[in-house]
This record gives sequence, C-alpha cells and structure tokens, in this order.
Amino acid sequence: METQVVRRQVTLLQRRELAHGSFVLRLERGDLDFEPGQYVIVGPAGSIDRREYSVYSAPDDPYLELLIKDVPEGLVSRALRSAEPGSPLELEGPFGYFTIPEEHRRSRRLLFVATGTGIAPFHCFARAYPDLEYLLLHGVRYAAERHEHASYPAGRYLACVTQERRGDYHGRVTRYLEQLAVESDTLCYLCGNCDMIFEAFDILQHRGVDPENLHAEVYY
Ligand SMILES: Cc1cc2nc3c(=O)[nH]c(=O)nc-3n(C[C@H](O)[C@H](O)[C@H](O)COP(=O)(O)OP(=O)(O)OC[C@H]3O[C@@H](n4cnc5c(N)ncnc54)[C@H](O)[C@@H]3O)c2cc1C
Repeated sequence: METQVVRRQVTLLQRRELAHGSFVLRLERGDLDFEPGQYVIVGPAGSIDRREYSVYSAPDDPYLELLIKDVPEGLVSRALRSAEPGSPLELEGPFGYFTIPEEHRRSRRLLFVATGTGIAPFHCFARAYPDLEYLLLHGVRYAAERHEHASYPAGRYLACVTQERRGDYHGRVTRYLEQLAVESDTLCYLCGNCDMIFEAFDILQHRGVDPENLHAEVYY
C-alpha cells in the first residue's frame, strides 16, 4: 500500500488509564491512512519535542489510538500524559515497515513477541486481521500490565510475568521462547525493548529460524 507522510494538527479526544502508569490516547484521525504495524510521530502542538508511537487501533476505527508507557523523567510521554482532552497535538506519519505482507497473512505461521507497550502493533494486527493465525507472547513485570489482554481470541495471547506468580508463565518472555517449539519457517515479529529483541533474535536463529523471517521494532 502506498502511504503518504503528512504532518497535521489533531485534537486529543480521550485518555484511557491502564495499569502501572500506561495509558491509551485517542486522537482525532482526520484523513490519516496507515498500514497495521506502522507508527506515527506525536508531540504537543508547537513543541519541537516529538516521539514515535506505534498505532494501537485498527485501520477501520474512526479515531487513532496510541498505547503509551509513562517514562520517569520522559519529556514527551509526560507531556502527553498531562495533555487534556481538547488539546492540539502535532502528528506526522505514517512511517515504518513492521507490517505483514498480504501474501503472508494466510499462508504463514506467525509468532509475535512483545515487552510492555511493545504490544501496540500486535493489538493493531489482531484487530485488523481477525483471521490471522498467530501466537502472541507478552513479557510484563506484573499481571496488571497485560494491557487489554481479554480483547485477544482465546489461545492467542500468553503473558510471561516476571515479578509475581500470575499470568500464563512465571518468568521472562525469552525464557519461555527457549522452550517453545518454533518451526523454521515461522514469521517472527519482535517489538519492545532492545535487550529482549537481541536475546530473542539469538534464540530464534539458534532454533533454525531464517534471519529473513525475523522482524523487529526497537522502542528503547
Ligand atoms: C518506532 C518506534 C515506535 C514506538 N512506539 C511506542 C509505543 O507504541 N508506545 C510507547 O510507550 N513507546 C513507544 N516508543 C518509544 C517512544 O518513542 C519514546 O522513546 C518513549 O515514549 C520515551 O520518550 P520520552 O520523551 O518520554 O522520554 P525521553 O525524554 O526521551 O527519555 C527520558 C529518559 O528515559 C529513558 N527512556 C526512554 N524511553 C524509555 C522506556 N521506554 N523505558 C524506560 N526508560 C526510557 C531515556 O534513556 C532517558 O534517560 C516507540 C519508539 C520507536 C522508535
């Protein structure tokens, strides 16, 4: 799909609080068109401080949603947290290639691995492509950080929780990955912090997954 990158001013419509300081911002979408997996660059209107955020909502939604983690001392995440509904924001995009080519959506086994708010593009995939065959592994510290996990179909979402014995697996998502049966032709998408991504890359390559089947979006 050809997408056109445009900078526009949009209105903040709503903020939805999630656990442990993460939140979902709902923005006016205007004529923004994007492909699931892409990100936008957002910041307060008139400010030079802007950051990348994956689109959390589906392409058919009339609004645009972003899932944002509160970063202590974070310039833009804190500014977005304190923005009131009705505030103008500046938005540029869409950008990125963390997308699933049409020919792979039906024919390929898909493995999604996220940490924290790195689940955002997978939430978008799940909503945009309801027939997709995937397993989503979500690494979080606490079960309360399984952001809106009940929205995924049964058996598709698995939480790896490190700091308490709740969720589906107690331990890091990469530990779970080490014991998971992964076919060599599985298409793998990794999103979130770079430590998880580097480690997951190594594990999956050692399990025989071709590097060209490994896709990553590094947040931090
Ligand atoms: C392609 C792409 C897509 C992204 N999508 C999302 C998304 O959907 N949701 C989301 O929450 N973030 C996402 N990010 C991260 C986001 O762009 C910002 O980096 C993040 O919000 C921090 O920005 P800030 O201005 O608040 O912090 P800054 O002012 O840039 O940083 C303040 C301090 O916090 C540290 N820091 C920065 N980020 C983090 C972090 N994530 N965790 C802990 N410490 C950090 C910095 O090193 C610095 O010391 C994405 C990044 C990329 C590159």
